[in-house]
Amino acid sequence: MEFTLDEMREHLNVLETRISAACKACGRERDSVKLVWVSKFHPAEAVENAISLGAKEFGENRVQEAETKFSVKRPGIRCHVIGPVQSNKLKKAALVADCIHSIASVEAVEKLEKVCAENGKILEILFQVNAGEEETKSGLDVANAESFLQSLETREFPHIVFRGLMTIGKNTGVAEDSRECFAFLRNLQQKFLAKDGVFASFDQLSMGMTGDLEVAIEEGATMIRVGTALFGERDYSKPVNDPV
Ligand SMILES: *Cc1c(COP(=O)(O)O)cnc(C)c1O
Repeated sequence: MEFTLDEMREHLNVLETRISAACKACGRERDSVKLVWVSKFHPAEAVENAISLGAKEFGENRVQEAETKFSVKRPGIRCHVIGPVQSNKLKKAALVADCIHSIASVEAVEKLEKVCAENGKILEILFQVNAGEEETKSGLDVANAESFLQSLETREFPHIVFRGLMTIGKNTGVAEDSRECFAFLRNLQQKFLAKDGVFASFDQLSMGMTGDLEVAIEEGATMIRVGTALFGERDYSKPVNDPV
């Protein structure tokens, strides 16, 4: 069952208390952390409720589902594609998304540049790093991530803005277990942050979900991607992917 608007408001209040407490505990301002509402597997009505509670940034992990809910653009509402995108779906992802968090190859960046140039669009991207070094997770290997980023330093992608890095913490059920991955991500981002050229706007760290957002905030997250704490449990038996 989907949350009613009142239930969602209560969950938002609880979540905001968590976020504020985490910010306070490490001396950060609340507005230094952007909340991305992960609406995957929840219907369009849930998105409407979220918008009425002030949500502006939404995360979807599948391109088709993102299209179903967000291909009709609304002022002030942004769509983040946060799941891995197969190369044959990059074009659609580039068109529906304002920001893609899960880029992990030069080929993908080149393809996005081409699509965005053809469509006169500027797209933000984050590079995903498999900082938890779990085989099931996609992203750049920890060992190669720095040299990968270095290899892009001399390139130009006029329609793509490199905004930073994304990772998924360890899925152990213990938030502390993700601290090392989050710290790794921050250290890597800091190495590229102040550089000119393609890394001039490399100021974002997308890390932290329902279970580990406090640790992520302590380690410098600028975007947390939260689904369950806002929308409730996902019903994986009911995919929301019918094109509008
Ligand atoms: C589903 C998902 C989330 C949200 O996870 P919750 O634990 O429900 O908050 C965050 N990031 C990615 C990449 C996801 O796929």
